[in-house]
Parts: sequence; C-alpha cells; structure tokens
Amino acid sequence: MTRRLIAVFSVLIIVFSAGCQLKEEGEENERDIAMNIIDSNSNIKSIALQAEEFTLQDVVDKPFGKALVIGQLGEVRAFKEGYFNAKGDSIGYVDKDGDEIKDVAGVIIDPPEGSITDSYYDIKKYIENENVMFLLLDGFGYHQYEYARENGFLPFLKNYEARKALSVYKPVTNAGLAAIITGTTPEENGIYSRKQRELKVDSIFKQALELNKSTAYIEGNIGIVNTEVQPVLNLDENKDGYTDDEVYKSIIKAIEDGNEFIFAHFHGIDDAAHSYGPLSDEAMERIKTIDSYIEGIVPIWDGVVIISADHGVHSAEDGGDHGEFRYEDLIVPYIIINRGSNVE
Ligand SMILES: [Zn+2]
Ligand SMILES: [Zn+2]
Repeated sequence: MTRRLIAVFSVLIIVFSAGCQLKEEGEENERDIAMNIIDSNSNIKSIALQAEEFTLQDVVDKPFGKALVIGQLGEVRAFKEGYFNAKGDSIGYVDKDGDEIKDVAGVIIDPPEGSITDSYYDIKKYIENENVMFLLLDGFGYHQYEYARENGFLPFLKNYEARKALSVYKPVTNAGLAAIITGTTPEENGIYSRKQRELKVDSIFKQALELNKSTAYIEGNIGIVNTEVQPVLNLDENKDGYTDDEVYKSIIKAIEDGNEFIFAHFHGIDDAAHSYGPLSDEAMERIKTIDSYIEGIVPIWDGVVIISADHGVHSAEDGGDHGEFRYEDLIVPYIIINRGSNVE
C-alpha cells in the first residue's frame, strides 16, 4: 500500500469539538489530541493518532497555499514537502531537508501575513524618527475584535483598519509579550509557556535605551517577563475589578512627562473574557471602555500608536480560556495609527 493509503486508513480524524471534550475528561486522554489544524478563521480538525506517516494533503480536505507547522516549544516551520510521523504520544514533523519538529502542536494553513513579532520591527522602524506608543490589549482575539466592531463596542477603533496577526504557541501572556517585545518566536526567546520569565534575547526596551529614547513601560499589577526597562506597576486602586483605568492614567502621565516610547498593557479584556466569556457583555463593555481610552490617547500623542494583543480567548464552560492551538487564541488584530490616520 502507498504511504498515502496507509495514512488514510490509519489516521483517525475527529471533529474539533469532540477533541475538546476528550481533553476535558482528563490527563489520560489529553495526549490523544496530538495535533490541531486551523486556518485564520476556523478550527478545521483535530487529529488523533494511529498513524505511521502522513502528509498534510492526506488530512486537509480543501486546497491551501502556505502552511506553518508549529511545535509545543513554539517552533515555527514553513510546511514544505514534509510528512508527519506518530511516535509514542506525539506527532513529529520532518521536511525534505531533514528539518524537524519533535512534538507538533498544530498546523495553520493559509496563515495571516502578519505576526505579533512584527511589533518589534515596527516599533524599531518608527522609533528612529518619531514617538511610538504600543498598546497591548491582553486577550483581545481577532474574533472578539470583529464581534465588537460589528456590535457597536468599538466606536473609535472601528474607523481604523485592523490586519490579522498570528500569535505564538502557547498563546499565553508570557509567550505573547515576549514575542512582541523581541520580534522572535518562543523557540528563540525561550518563553513558550506561563512558566518562563527570562528572555534569551534583547528586547525593544534595550533598543530604546540605546537610542536614548525616554521610555515608560506601564503594566498592570504584576511584571510578566524580566525586561531591560522596569515596568511601572498599577494596582486596582479604586477596586473596580480592573487595572485598566489606572493604566490609562499612567499613560496620560507618561505622555505629559514627555516620554518618547510608551509601552502599555491593558489587562481587562482578558480578565473579563476569562470570567464571563470572550464575547460576553462584560468583555464587550471592557473593550468599549478601552476603546474610549484609546480615543483619549490618540489625539494627544504626537507619534505612532500600534495596537495588538498577546493572544485571544475562546469560550469555555465557565467563561473563557486560552493557551490552546485554536484560531480564537492564535489570531489577533494588529492596528497602526499615525496621528489619526491608518498606516497600511
Ligand atoms: Zn494575556
Ligand atoms: Zn488570560
């Protein structure tokens, strides 16, 4: 039998939702879901393994152009004439040049052009000649952005074009933030889950320091990864359940103090999405509140504003969650505003 036939007979494909149920049943079954296949607006399928070797064409029913294979440690490889090989409790990938990923988390076919790692390069490009502000909207996936825009929760940002950008695996705050500030994948910067804090490479803050740009890094109530510029922390002083209003005030102060580079992290969308769900009224109200803050910032900032997210959030039984290989977690909006106009 040909390799293709063996694969067709032996690969057990289960629908994505069934895969998720399995996963919730317990640790034992977790590794059965060895690999997820997505594109930038849907979860296509999960593949549980019984297989020897198979190619992507064996298991994806529709035509596709580019594809990226992504590993459990955040490795990213362009798919090129490679095959997948089930070994033990994981699926590996080897391409025709012998380049491999030992434990594949998933594959994204027809990925967006953009990546959250573009943030580093865009900041670096603009900061040479002008002021730059980066607003990190934690847990603001593209699907939430779209829903908010269509339902009146983005009265300000709806006026601007948002591109789709791919986050990193795992789509959690540490890994997403590290990718944004270093322009590198988790494989390169060493931060691939919630557990790591030490960057293996320099961040954009080092660049800003070297260029003698006065810099403010404005965080919520805790530091996420260790950076060359210490974050200014903001506690929920008025006890409204969110640090966003305090972060907003800190941004206004940082503008008034004449900073040339401001990096600020709004946590509220993620918090509300965890508690109530990514498309809940509470999460949408958070998005609307932060939209109003951005409306307050853009006219008084003499420079470029870049807005993106570390990851999105998917619906879960008791609200929302992230950290899985799914489009809701991995696809985020990416917006550049230069003095009120969109930058393409
Ligand atoms: Zn986050
Ligand atoms: Zn979260």
